[in-house]
Amino acid sequence: MGTLSNLKPENVWQIFEQICSIPHPSKKEHKIIEYVKEFCENLKLKTIIDEVGNVIIKKAPSQGFEDRKGVILQAHLDMVPQKNSDKQHDFEKDPIIPRIENNKVKASGTTLGADNGIGVATALAILADNSIEHGPIEVLLTVDEETGMTGARNLKAGILSGEILINLDSEEHGEIYIGCAGGLDATFFLNYTENKLSDNTSLYNLNITGLKGGHSGVDIHLGRANSNKLLARLLRQLISKYQVKIVRIDGGNLRNAIPREAFSIIAIKNNEIEEIKKTVQYYENIFKNEYQHVEPELKVTFEKSYENILTYIDEKTCQQLINIIHVIPNGVIRMSDAIPGLVETSNNLASIKQNQEKKELIISCLLRSSVDSAKEYLAEVLECIANLAGIKIEFSGGYPGWKPNPNSQILQIAKNVFKKMFSSEPKIMAIHAGLETGIIAGSYPHLDMISIGPTIKYPHSPDEEVDIESVNKFYNFLLEILKNIPKK
Ligand SMILES: [Zn+2]
Repeated sequence: MGTLSNLKPENVWQIFEQICSIPHPSKKEHKIIEYVKEFCENLKLKTIIDEVGNVIIKKAPSQGFEDRKGVILQAHLDMVPQKNSDKQHDFEKDPIIPRIENNKVKASGTTLGADNGIGVATALAILADNSIEHGPIEVLLTVDEETGMTGARNLKAGILSGEILINLDSEEHGEIYIGCAGGLDATFFLNYTENKLSDNTSLYNLNITGLKGGHSGVDIHLGRANSNKLLARLLRQLISKYQVKIVRIDGGNLRNAIPREAFSIIAIKNNEIEEIKKTVQYYENIFKNEYQHVEPELKVTFEKSYENILTYIDEKTCQQLINIIHVIPNGVIRMSDAIPGLVETSNNLASIKQNQEKKELIISCLLRSSVDSAKEYLAEVLECIANLAGIKIEFSGGYPGWKPNPNSQILQIAKNVFKKMFSSEPKIMAIHAGLETGIIAGSYPHLDMISIGPTIKYPHSPDEEVDIESVNKFYNFLLEILKNIPKK
């Protein structure tokens, strides 16, 4: 008897406890794939494992439900391996030990893997229970959702035949997701030449720090400052007023993070130091005033540099760099007209990097939209900017979004079932970030999709916990949806 064996629904918790005992961090899913394969072969169900490790299982309809539309239940097999620093745990070998505390299930000092182990357990429990009423069912269990969605990306068209997909990876009972954003990386390249610094110049560090940053999708509407934009704005003023040269520049980091810091080394004439100091101070106050409510820790520093550098980036390229950073649109481009409060399209001007070997400046952006054509239009805008400046731009890493459809049939069914069961309205949600559903819809554009799940708090952290009662509600909600799937 396991720790969770008295919880309801019993079959879901039993399978979840088994999943916990099998190591399954992202990119190391082979043991859990083996477990699922054996589980389904024991049930004599057709099981396919594709080239990347996605598992697809097909179950025939129950009696009287043969003429219903096919439903795909989808979850991901991998989990995020995170532990507290004082916890001894090898995610490739050691089992996760679940425990019950305050009506929640959690692990001890590690992630639990309820994201998305509950989803997997739910799908397997439905496969194993022949008393459940449902039409034709396919279960799709993907690999590597958490570190690149390579499972969803490599899912071949033509394997699945269902018309409806229910993703089981949402994290709040009472919310139904109907959309997500696609993404695209855009990268600008500027070649520079190195010019020799003249005498009577000193090197100074000019840095923007203390910003909040955040996720470039779900935090993009919060109006936070972009360190790259602020640094470029300040440099433009300095270059236009004084004999300032840019020696080094380095802003932001990850494409999916709003940049918090930007650093530069500038060369200035010794007789202009005091004036420049005042100008920097003046702009620091302007920035602080503009962002006083969102960026209270914003800081501009101007300090002598002790680097020994004798060259600077040529004036024309610096001018171009600053112009481009000024005109690249950043932040929210458009709000959704389908979901109030949802960002439809955005850009994050993520980083400015200097490759000293290649003498190249590189500006990286991440574009997002739930409407693929809007994302492509934004890409065209960036291409036009590159054309005007006469510089190179490259696009890569694109993946499709999931455009919210408030008139979706499966959404209507889920809403009605939810109201009947729980006497309240579910919240209809979409997220301005990538989900597997968007990518799957790229290969299966006809699918009618929703995403639901139990209440999971603090996913991806050692505090991860799943609300016990919400699992029971979620499971019964799903069974009731399956009962109500319409005829073909
Ligand atoms: Zn997940």
